Amino acid sequence: MKPSLSRLALPALLASVAAPALAADAGSLNIICGVQAEWCSLVQTTFSRTTGIKVNLVAKGGGEALAQISAESANPKTDVWFGGTGDPHLQAAEKDLTLAYQSPNINLLRDWAVNQAKQSGYKTVGIYSGPLGIAYNTELLAKKKLAAPLCWTDLIQPQYKGEVQMANPNSSGTAYMAIATLVQITGEDKAFEYLKALHKNISQYPRSGSGPLKNVSHGENTIAVGWIHDVPGEVMQGFPVKSAAPCEGTGYEVGSMSIVKGARNLANAKKFYDWALTAPAQELGLAAKQFQLPANTAAKVDPRVPDVKRIKLINYDFAKYGKAAERKRLLERWEKEVNGGA
Ligand code: PLP
Repeated sequence: MKPSLSRLALPALLASVAAPALAADAGSLNIICGVQAEWCSLVQTTFSRTTGIKVNLVAKGGGEALAQISAESANPKTDVWFGGTGDPHLQAAEKDLTLAYQSPNINLLRDWAVNQAKQSGYKTVGIYSGPLGIAYNTELLAKKKLAAPLCWTDLIQPQYKGEVQMANPNSSGTAYMAIATLVQITGEDKAFEYLKALHKNISQYPRSGSGPLKNVSHGENTIAVGWIHDVPGEVMQGFPVKSAAPCEGTGYEVGSMSIVKGARNLANAKKFYDWALTAPAQELGLAAKQFQLPANTAAKVDPRVPDVKRIKLINYDFAKYGKAAERKRLLERWEKEVNGGA
């Protein structure tokens, strides 16, 4: 029997498809992404398109990312950890889970981003910054005849019972920063008294730091502890959300990036790291409607990026609260005295 045309054509066709793919094979890169989904996805597609490197990406909160990288340390599956609050990146550096790398692009960055690198022995670097605060749904507040909360102390008032959400600090870097911020403002014992009082007003501790604000936008929650820089993106989508910079003062994140020690795709990891520090890569945050202050001094700063001159920022002690033992101790105390209801 004569072979059919399709059987003859198939190997040639397969070869023609496979050949250019092999010629352009730039390998792959495995990223844990700690910012919001839209930004993660833009980073993934843009880097892939410009380099031919296949990017596998999973989104994780800071606490979860740290736990995963720690669990995989004998056999790392992740190459780069992109974004999320700086403390868990510093904790990973201290535990020697991440690799020292001094990118040639580090001199393009603002001082606070470089300081993050210096204090970790170049095992992490700042990629953006933004202030922690309060966000609220204006329609829900009006409907419930509640005033807008402006201070941390407002959140523990009885009229807000069941109206507040903060993420779970075990999984979320945002919530860990909130605890560390309160400890720095009032001292530790008073902060834990506050957190116990806040617990009475909390309806839920979502897993991810962006959860409470998303719930505020969707009208499922009235007040969130979250990022002030995440609010303009929600407003752009038409949600009735406003933010307040707490009157007592507040902390700010230095969103960070690290290369995992033992990364299997190290050359690609360094390529990504260098690229992520460039102005065009940093502007992808803005393209994804994220309004952090970019670390690169040449990256565009949108007018909606929170003006920190109008916010009472504390001098957040990254060295202290970026320590693994401090995180463990504060989380254990929170579990025991607040979440466990002692
Ligand atoms: N910082 C920014 C700007 C984010 O978008 C997020 C999450 O979406 C985080 C930090 C930290 O997330 P988490 O609190 O879940 O660790």
